[in-house]
This record gives sequence, C-alpha cells and structure tokens, in this order.
Amino acid sequence: MSGSNEMKMLVAAGAIGAYFIYRARADKTEWVPSAPFHWERKRAAMADLEAKDIIVITDFDATITSGDSEQCHDLVGGSKLLPDGFRSEFAPLLDWTTNTNIDGVEWWDQAHALMIKHGTPQRNIIPRLVREAKMVPRPGALEMLQHLERNGIPVLIVSAGLTDVIEEFLRQHGALSENVTICSNRLNYEADATPKSVAPEPPITSFTKEYAYSSASSFFSQHADRRGIIQLGDSLTDVDPAKKVPYDHLLSIGFLNARPDGRKHAEAFDAVVIGNNGSLRPVAELLNEIVGHPAGIMRSFSTLSSMSGAALTRTRSWTGAAPSP
Ligand SMILES: [Mg+2]
Repeated sequence: MSGSNEMKMLVAAGAIGAYFIYRARADKTEWVPSAPFHWERKRAAMADLEAKDIIVITDFDATITSGDSEQCHDLVGGSKLLPDGFRSEFAPLLDWTTNTNIDGVEWWDQAHALMIKHGTPQRNIIPRLVREAKMVPRPGALEMLQHLERNGIPVLIVSAGLTDVIEEFLRQHGALSENVTICSNRLNYEADATPKSVAPEPPITSFTKEYAYSSASSFFSQHADRRGIIQLGDSLTDVDPAKKVPYDHLLSIGFLNARPDGRKHAEAFDAVVIGNNGSLRPVAELLNEIVGHPAGIMRSFSTLSSMSGAALTRTRSWTGAAPSP
C-alpha cells in the first residue's frame, strides 16, 4: 500500500474510531477498538506471540489509577500533611488557570526545586501521604498487574510523576512485584530524612517520554528479545515511550477518562477505554489470550466480542468481516 493510501486509511480509521467512541458513550460501553480492521489485523499478526515475547509499557497517573484520582505531584503539592510554606509556594503550580506561563519541562523543574528547598516530603511520611490521598486503582488494574506478575511479563511504568509515590502505591496494593520497573522521577534522600535532589536530570515529563528508551536502557536491553509491546496510557504523549524502541508488534490502549472529545485518542491508540473508571479487565483478558492459547486468528474476534458488546455489533455490520460468535 502506498504511503498516501496508508495515511488516508489512518485518517479514516481515526474518524471511524471517533464515531465508535461517541456511540460507546451513548451505549455506556467501556471499550472500543479505534479502527476495527486495524485492530483485527494487528491482533492477528500477534497470534504467535507468547508470554515470553511481550512487555507492557504503561503510564501510571489516571491509567493504573482511576481517571479522577489525585496524581503524584498534586498529591504532594496539595497535602495538608506537608508544611504550610511549601504548600503555599506550590499552589500556583497546581492552578491550571494561572500557571500557563509555567509550562513544559520547566513545570517539573520548579516543582522539584520546591520539594528540595523545603526538604519535603520527608521519607517516612510518604506511606501516610499515599494512604490518605484520593488515589485509587482503576478497576481491573490490580488483576492485570497480578496476571503480569504470575506470567513473568516485564512491566515498565513510564511516568512523569514520582517514583517514590508510585512504588508506595503499588506496595500498599500488593503490586510492587519483581517484574515491575519504574521509569519516573525519584527523590534522592541520600542518608537523610529529607530529599536532597531529584533524579534523573532532566526530569521525566509528559513531553519527554520518548527518552524512556535511553532512561530505562537496562530494562530494554534485558528484554531486547521480546518483540511485542502492549502500551497503555491516558495522555496522547503516552504513546511516546515506545517511539525509539525496536519492536515487531505493538498494541496501544488509550484511556479517555472524562475527556469530552475522543477523536485524538482514536487516532493515537488502537483501542480506547472510556470513563474515569473504565476497566482494565479487557487488557487482562487480552494478555490472558496471549499467555493462555497458542496461535489462532479466531482469538482476535473472541477478544473483540468480550470487549464491547454494542459497539462491536456495529463494528461487524460496518466491516462485514467478522464471523458469527
Ligand atoms: Mg497519565
């Protein structure tokens, strides 16, 4: 297929995906393949993959956690458990109506500089900070992580948040397992109770996620023979971490959360999960298929039918390609 035809198909796929997202909202279904024919083609191409062939690259905030959870930096910057002076200096960074001139990577630099300046959060308060925050797992997230652990599938969490908060959250939910690597911003306490610096420098931000390949180089070299990637995220930039990674197969699942317009997500991701509490269970089922069964194109259809009832019915009538269940 020529490049321009491929581009036309992608544009058409995005438009069709946006329509299905619109319909799925109306039908209260949670999961829609952005472009059914693309999904089926990609999924069928992955039919021979097994657990030993895949890695999962996932965002953390509003992906592993629910869409309306507090996010790492908000949780630290707004916590009443931390000193008043720190909170009042941090507040402008959390005010998205007035901080428009503090954007991009500079935001992270300022946020981290304030933590170091005020020597907060102290190391020993982090468990309480996380426990008392409104930060909850997305439905199906813990099951998915357990599934990945059980099957020894490596997980790389690429997050513009804070490693210390993510680790503590996973620990409190019994999900900080050996197969999980976190590529995010870590507070460096040296031998002290207060943070002395934040690593890496420059920080991992929403705008720089494609550097994950070099930031988490040992993860990728250790798993270089795994050529299939399952990628999860709620922001459009969450597709960036795999940009520099060599792979043969990639399936991406985007979390729309409460965003009113799904068009860009439909273009960026192979499937979209809708709603702040849209479930990760279909992803667990997809992984289960890869782990549990040998090759077979029929599986892609069974996956789709377990994903989305009403939206899929329309998918079938539109493509005319899927067999009866
Ligand atoms: Mg996120």
